Formats: sequence, structure tokens, C-alpha cells
Amino acid sequence: MRGNAAIHDLVAPGTLGAVLDLLAAEPGAWTPIAGGTEVMVAFAAGRLTAPKLVSLWGIPDLRAIEVAPQSVVIGAATTFLDLRRHALIAADLPLLAKAAGWIGSIANQGRATLGGNLVNGSPAADSSPALLAYDAEIEFISVRGRRRVPYSEFHTAYKRNCLAPDELLYAIHLPRRFARHNQYLRKVGTRRAMAIAKVALGAIALLENGRIREIRLGAASLAPYPMRLMQTEAALLGRSLTDDTIQSARRALLAEVKPIDDIRSTADYRRRVAANLLDEFLLQLRRVEAVP
Ligand SMILES: Cc1cc2nc3c(=O)[nH]c(=O)nc-3n(C[C@H](O)[C@H](O)[C@H](O)COP(=O)(O)OP(=O)(O)OC[C@H]3O[C@@H](n4cnc5c(N)ncnc54)[C@H](O)[C@@H]3O)c2cc1C
Repeated sequence: MRGNAAIHDLVAPGTLGAVLDLLAAEPGAWTPIAGGTEVMVAFAAGRLTAPKLVSLWGIPDLRAIEVAPQSVVIGAATTFLDLRRHALIAADLPLLAKAAGWIGSIANQGRATLGGNLVNGSPAADSSPALLAYDAEIEFISVRGRRRVPYSEFHTAYKRNCLAPDELLYAIHLPRRFARHNQYLRKVGTRRAMAIAKVALGAIALLENGRIREIRLGAASLAPYPMRLMQTEAALLGRSLTDDTIQSARRALLAEVKPIDDIRSTADYRRRVAANLLDEFLLQLRRVEAVP
């Protein structure tokens, strides 16, 4: 059943300060709406319960991409089309540029925001594996000030996160230090476009003297929320890429992931594909190492 517009109040104060004042005056009463590609789907399906909506669209502070020598800071209301069009993101953070191209259609990408993707908290969110692999940090803002947390600690349960009721997601911070790292991102879905991930894996690693000096693995659709595979990472860190190492990493991943059966796939299929994606990444890494 379609939602009833008469029971929702939508305001667009137009400045960040005015939005934060609203949230501070009635914590938890106002639901932010950025691109609206999740909120309006809920409205159309009659599932939108939030009576008060506050628009973040058109607030410049939230839609800026700032490049510094060591980092890139992406405003939470930056759209996926903004990300795809940004030359430095394509050059320095190619996994994020690739993920941006996966979101729905071009029309979606012109509205859908990075912050909305994260706060919505789908286990299958396309931007999450890349952000986990890049060790992103999330910045929150409220009238009380700003704070930052590692993105790997942002999701706390299915569709839950550590935002306080008076806070907005303000920006996503990404380091610019991955030129020498081996990078990998693959999504397995029903089709190549307009498909929700059955499984996705983002990965980044740095080899030194034949051993893995740094590695991060970010997964989608393998747990109630996007997660870093830290136990699998631990099975690889400091090791050389022998067949035994690859096998024990595979076992660690199979023990760590907690996928479910749903309309898109089965838990068993997701486990097997996730282990195969890990193999694919590690074999790619080994080939790179073999090149003199
Ligand atoms: C046809 C279609 C196809 C899609 N395909 C994909 C896909 O392939 N991959 C994928 O990952 N997603 C997909 N989506 C989902 C959606 O487009 C994304 O999750 C998008 O990034 C959401 O961003 P938004 O700005 O539209 O969020 P909104 O709908 O505006 O908000 C989503 C949630 O985030 C909250 N929120 C938004 N911004 C902030 C903020 N700055 N601070 C605090 N809370 C905030 C809102 O309150 C709401 O709870 C699709 C959606 C549609 C309709």
C-alpha cells in the first residue's frame, strides 16, 4: 500500500547549522533524507513510519570532495555520480569508483548518496567492501561537535549503527596511500547491472619481501551488516603466499562469515563463492609477486 503524504512533514532548512539545530531540539524525532532513494521506496511501499523528514539535499558542506596530500574527505551527501566523475577518486581509490558504478542505474547514481548507502546499512551495500578495504573513517556532526570512528566499527547489528539521535553522518575520510597496494573488488549478483550483491569482496594488500605486510578484506552479504574479515586477515598477515597459507585463509573465511538463505541466494552458495573470491584475490597477489 502506498504511503500517505499527508502524515509526513518534510522540511528543507537549507543549511547544515539549521538541520543540526532541528536534530538537537528533538533528538530522534527527525529523519534525514538525502537522495531519498531508500526513503522514497519505503514511502511508496507504505513502510515509511517517520513522521518528520529533514532534507539534506542541496547543502554544500555535505556534498564536497576535499583532496589533501594524505587524504580525501567525501561529504556524506556526495552522490555516486559525483564519485564516478572525480578524476582523483578514479586514480587513487579505484575500488570506490568501481563500486559507484554498480549502484542501480545512472538515474539512481545521480541521487543516491554515499552517506545514505552507509546509514541505510544494507548488508549488501555496494560501497561498503571498498570502504572497509581502504580503512575509511566516518565523521559525525551535531551541535555538540564532531567525532570520528573507523568505518569497520560503524555498523553494530542489522540496520543499526553508532550514530546518536542528534547526529548526522558528515563525511567519509579515506587515506591516499595505496599506490603500491594490490587492490581487488568483485560483486557476484544475478546480472551485471541493477542487481543486489549475493556476495561481494573488497581487498587490499601490500607485500614486502614475499610476505603480507598489510591486508584488509571487506565483505558484503556475508553477515547481518557489511564487515571486515579480521580473522581471515589474521590468517594471512605476515605470511608468504604458499598453497598452505591460501588454504588456511580459506578455512578462516569459512569459519568467520555468517551468511543467510534469502530470496537472492543460499548461505551455502554465498560461503563457497566468498572463499572462491578470496582465492582469486590471493592468486592475483601471488602472480604480481612473481613478476620481477
Ligand atoms: C532502483 C534502485 C536501485 C538500487 N540499487 C542499488 C545498488 O545496486 N547497490 C546499492 O548499494 N544500493 C542500491 N540502491 C539503494 C540506494 O540507492 C542506496 O542505498 C543509496 O546510496 C541511498 O542513498 P540516499 O541518499 O538515496 O539515501 P536516503 O534514502 O536519502 O536515506 C537512506 C537512509 O540514510 C539516512 N541518511 C541519509 N543521509 C544521512 C546522513 N548524512 N546522516 C544521517 N543519516 C542519513 C536516512 O535517514 C535513511 O535512513 C538502489 C535503490 C533503488 C531505488
